[in-house]
Parts: sequence; C-alpha cells; structure tokens
Amino acid sequence: MSLISFKKRSIKTQILAVIMLISSVALALAFFFFLVYDFFYVKNKTEEQINSLAQVIASNNKVSIEFNYGQTAEQDLSNILMRDHPNITEACIYDSSRTPIAVYFGSTQRTNKPASYRMPPFTEFNFPDNYLYVYRAIEDDYGRKVGTVYLKTNLDALYQRLYQYSIVLTIIYVGVIALTYLISLWSQRIISEPILSLAENTKVISEEKDYSFRIPNNRADEIGVLINGFNEMLGQIEEQNLALTFAKEQAEQSSKAKEQFLANMSHEIRTPMFAVMGLTDTLLETGPNSKQREHLDHIKVSAEHLLVLINDILDLSKIESGMLSFEESVIELTPLLEAVTASSSQKINQKKLLVKRSVAPNVPKKFLGDSVRLKQVLINLFSNAVKFTETGEVELGVEVLDKTDHDYELNFFVRDTGIGIPPEKQEYIFSIFTQASSDTTRKYGGTGLGLAICRQLVELQGGQIKVKSELGIGSTFSFSIRYKAYQETLVVEQGNLTGKLFEDDRPASVGRRILLAEDVEINQMLVSNMLISFQHQVSVAQNGLMAFQMLAEKDYDLVLMDVHMPELDGYQATQKIRQELPEPKRSIPIIAITASALKTELDRCISAGMNDYISKPFNKQTLQEKIAAHLSPKV
Ligand code: ADP
Repeated sequence: MSLISFKKRSIKTQILAVIMLISSVALALAFFFFLVYDFFYVKNKTEEQINSLAQVIASNNKVSIEFNYGQTAEQDLSNILMRDHPNITEACIYDSSRTPIAVYFGSTQRTNKPASYRMPPFTEFNFPDNYLYVYRAIEDDYGRKVGTVYLKTNLDALYQRLYQYSIVLTIIYVGVIALTYLISLWSQRIISEPILSLAENTKVISEEKDYSFRIPNNRADEIGVLINGFNEMLGQIEEQNLALTFAKEQAEQSSKAKEQFLANMSHEIRTPMFAVMGLTDTLLETGPNSKQREHLDHIKVSAEHLLVLINDILDLSKIESGMLSFEESVIELTPLLEAVTASSSQKINQKKLLVKRSVAPNVPKKFLGDSVRLKQVLINLFSNAVKFTETGEVELGVEVLDKTDHDYELNFFVRDTGIGIPPEKQEYIFSIFTQASSDTTRKYGGTGLGLAICRQLVELQGGQIKVKSELGIGSTFSFSIRYKAYQETLVVEQGNLTGKLFEDDRPASVGRRILLAEDVEINQMLVSNMLISFQHQVSVAQNGLMAFQMLAEKDYDLVLMDVHMPELDGYQATQKIRQELPEPKRSIPIIAITASALKTELDRCISAGMNDYISKPFNKQTLQEKIAAHLSPKV
C-alpha cells in the first residue's frame, strides 16, 4: 500500500514538476523579452521626440540668433520647455561662434555654468547619469549653420514605465503560474491516473496470481494500447497456466499410475520369489543328495540374482520419480566394511584373491548418515571389483578429504588388479544398462544397472563418484560424501539400548503364541515352518476377519498380518483390532507382511496402526529378529 501511494505521489509530482517548469520558464522568458523590447521602443521614441523638439526650437530661433536677440531666445526656450516638457532639465542656444546666447535650467535647478559645447548633430544616452543629451544645428534659409540648440532630458519617465511594467508583469506571472498549477493538477490526472491504476492492478494480479482479471479500458490513445497489450498478456498467461496445470495433472496421474504399476509388479514378483526361495531353503534342510543340493544351490543363487535385479529396477524408478529418501543413523565403519568384504567372500575364496582394507588413522569410527545406502554402493563397487579380477588383489579403503567441527568429507575407494576399462568407456559405464564390452554379460553376467544406481545414490547425497582405470592393469572406483560427525555422549545410550534389545530379547522370544493372518497356502506353510523352527506356536487365520475373531476369542503374543487378504485386508483388520478389542488385546504387536518395498506402502502399514513391517522375500533370521524386537522378555 505504502509503495503504491509513494509511486502515485512520485509520478504525479513528476508530471506536475515538468509542466510547472516548462510554463514558468516560458512565461519568464516572454516577459523578459517584452520588457527589453519595450525599453528600446520607449527609448527610441524619447529620442525622436527630443530631436524634433530641438528642431522646432532651432527653426523658432533662427532670427533671434541672426540678430543676436538673446533675451527673446531665452524667453522662447522657457515658454516651450517649462510648460510642456518638465523632463528637460537643461537647454542652451549657441551662436555660430559657439557662445551661449540663451540658457535654460528648468524650474528648480539653477546654475550659471553653461553646458559644454558638442558638435551637432549629437545624441547620447548616458545611463549612469540617467540623462539624454541632444545637440542640433540651427541653419538659416540658405542652409548655413548659424548656431546650435542643446537639450538635456532626464530619463525618469522611461525608468518609471519600466518599473511599473515589471510590477504588473510580476503580478501577472504569479497569477498565471498559480492558475497553471491548478490546471495541470487537474489535467495531469488524464495521464497519470490510468498509469497508476495499471500499476496498482499489476501489483494486485502478481500478488493474488489471479490471471483471469482484466483491466477495464475505455481509452483509444497509447495508454489504451498499453492496457490492451497488458490484458492480452494476461490472457496468454492464463492459457499457459491452464495448459501447464493440465500437463502437471497428467504427469502426476501417470506418475501415480507408474507407482501403482511398480507396486503391483513388485508385489507380483516378490510373492512367488518368496515361495521359490522359501521352498528351496526348506528342501535344503531336508538333507538332499549332493546332485540335488547342487541344483538347489543353483536355484537359490538364481533367485537371489533375480531379487537383486528387482531391487535395482525398483531403486532406479524410485530415484527417477524422486521418491528416494535418505535416513540418518549411526554408521559404524568397521562392521560396515566387514559386511562389504563378507558379501563376496565365496568368490574371493574361489579366485584366491588378496583382500586389503586400508582405513586412514584420522577416519572416525562412527559417523551419521544413511548406512543402508552406503553399504549398497560399497557392496556394488566391491562385488564388481571381485567379479572383474581373476588374480591379484582387491583393496577397500577410506580416507578423510576434509574435516570441520560438524562433519567429515570421506573418500571411499575400491581398487582392483582386474581387467580394467578402456578410456572411451569410462564415462558410459555410469549410464543405465551400459557395460564396458558387449560380451560382458556373457562372460561375467550383470545388467549394467549397478553403477548407474551408485552414481545416483552418491550424487543425491551431495557427493561425487569417479573411476580411474587402465586396461589389463586394474581399476579404482572412488566416491566422496560428507557425513555428520557423531557425538560420543549419544553413542553410549544408543549402544546400550540396541545391545539390550538383541541380547535380552532374542533368547526370550522363542516359544510364543503367534497368530499368522495369511490367505495364500504356500506362504502359510513357509512362514509357519520358519516360526516352528523357533518353537513358536502358530495359529493361521485365512483372512483379516478371521484373524480379528480368533484374537477376540483367544490370547496371542503377536500377530503377523499379510496386507492383501479377502474379507478384511491387513490394514482394515488392524484398524478393527485397534478400535474394537479391549486392552491388552487392542495393543498387541502387529507386524505387516508385505510384498511391497515402496515407502508409500510401508508408511501405510504404520498409519493403519501396525508396529512394523517385513518385506517378502525374507529369511527366517530376519523374521525372528523382527519378532524379537517387539516382544518383551518372557517372564
Ligand atoms: P554390471 O556389473 O551389472 O554389468 P555395473 O553398472 O555395475 O553393471 O557395471 C557396468 C560395467 O562397468 C560392467 O559391465 C563392466 O563392464 C564395467 N565395470 C564395472 N566395474 C568394473 C571393474 N571393477 N573392473 C572392470 N570393469 C568394470
């Protein structure tokens, strides 16, 4: 508001100032030139008048000079001048020998000094003196000079007139300027008002983002054209906004559809994968012969590989749709590096590779960041290094690049003495589905997704990933990420807490009454077997409603709840339990079993009232750890 009124005042003042400046300068110049003109006009007139008066006196006194009638001449001078020409203050008639014969000194001034003689014709304005001097020759009838008339006139009348004119003109000037001010105050609105209203409307539109508004326009001049142009621009913005909103809605819809498709696909693939992996484990436990064991091992490896692929594709699509989020927890460096090397231990042993671990002494033992994603990137790089190295060594290392009070920039590297990557391929291997050579898949397997995901994971955490490699010599992959420093006081508390959960609960959480709500028969069998192997008592409900009824009738320690079931699904059944059953049954721990790994699905489980979730496929250790985490020690 204040900005607008300031602008309003400012533009009005500017227009007013311009009008006033132009008109006052123009008027002042006009009056000045008028005064100058008038001065010279009156001056010339006075000169003419005095000259012709001198002429009259000269012709009147021709005879008096010829006959030397000084007295007559003097009489004549006073007669003419005294009455009609009070401005003449001195007059004199000289004879041919330049001797004054008649002198006149006006009515008040009297001096006996005759004026000094000048050769006629002579006219002079003497401004400092404020007088006009005129000398005119007196000639006889034959044109011979017989004497001279001298007249001295004061210029009071001329200055008086100049003074009066100045007063009058100043009054007129002030009056005209005042009038001009009033008229321009009124007339400048014609220009400034529409511009101000345009400015005001522009501000309102940009603040309220209402582009359907149009500024009323009833003018045919340039301002009208300006308003029309502005309105047209608003129309175009409105159209573009509509198109953008439409496009955004469509993009959101297609992103939702993609998300849904992914959730479905993930669910559809994970469910049979759970069966394949679970049944393979079950068969392996039944003591197969060596041939059968070999086949079962192959099935297991293939299933695990398929699962990695599904997880990779899911990760990629999460990254693409911007749904990937990073969590912050304590990262313990040594166990993390051990887990990374352990993940490839079988191949390392087969190939007899030397594994080196080099951790610079100033690297912190613990720091804060997303440990799952760090482990994922390291396992990817490390398993590639092992995969592409037949002999020699593989090194896994960390060093500090930069350190502040609050964080560390850590550089992780994986160096191998493997096949190396040709220089022209080094940039491409970080792209999706790209491998260094066309026969890589045939020789080594893989999909070309791993490094693309690694790069995204590193860059999304503000880091950078690089490769240095020489064909036949080896490769070094490195990446740097900034991690927050870990405060030691927190370590003690958290360490105790986590320790307690695992040390105290795990042995105590066997032999519990578990209610399994699951509609698919094969899953019922697999999960039941896992639970029984930990001596739990298992009751199976075919759907959500049955689970609710069974829980209402009997006591259980924990519910494992599949989310997709007929009658009542897992979410609905959980809500019913949480709302309708009395305590303590209402608060029984419920763990969701879901085939989805999407965060949206997992969040849904928690908001439905479940305590935790476990994603299919899982093995019995994972299941037991989840159960233990939610059961207090058995008394
Ligand atoms: P994948 O290993 O599944 O094929 P990645 O994205 O992990 O996919 O790797 C892409 C390609 O980069 C590999 O196929 C291989 O050609 C090359 N590559 C990756 N790491 C190494 C390495 N340590 N030594 C040699 N080549 C490598």
